[in-house]
Amino acid sequence: MIDRFNYPKVSQNVVKEFLDSLRKGKFRIPICLKCDLKIWPPANICSNCYSRKIRMSKLEPRGRVIEHSFSHIDSTEKLGLVEISGIRIIGILSEENLKQVKIKLLDYDESARDFSQRFGTRILVRKVLLMIKKTDTEEIEEKELDVEELEKRIRKERLWSSSNRWIAKSEIKNGYIVASRHLDLLSNAIALDIITF
Ligand SMILES: [Zn+2]
Repeated sequence: MIDRFNYPKVSQNVVKEFLDSLRKGKFRIPICLKCDLKIWPPANICSNCYSRKIRMSKLEPRGRVIEHSFSHIDSTEKLGLVEISGIRIIGILSEENLKQVKIKLLDYDESARDFSQRFGTRILVRKVLLMIKKTDTEEIEEKELDVEELEKRIRKERLWSSSNRWIAKSEIKNGYIVASRHLDLLSNAIALDIITF
């Protein structure tokens, strides 16, 4: 009969190490020494190559909010899915250091013709006002971006641009461009280091 309780002894308790560092305010996660996988959620064994040779590594504590929502059970809390160095975590968001990004349409090319009718009526964006608000201090940073000019510049310098300045009328709400199109409009400015987050 197999002894169900006779599990192989673990040489290292990764979960304990993870929690101990968290208590000290350090976000360290296990990384497989054999295949470099970030083992998430923390475990004593690599889920890719089953190696038990693991090191704990500190991650860059800055992340990106992918999705957020409110919980209305007991108290109103903001929940979010955050990506940090390639791993995704769900948790309660504190307003500290959080930034809100808004993009206001300033100018578009009225002579540009959209021959594709697949997306409904679209306009070709020329200039936008980028507004970044830090939610803890309410401090607002504004920057006017000539996205048409940036596209020309990046085409000249890098021969290729990933921007898409065509925006559907339904993607503009009260003069502001919806969040799902932000990256399309900002990609060149980010690539040229004109803006950083
Ligand atoms: Zn591995």
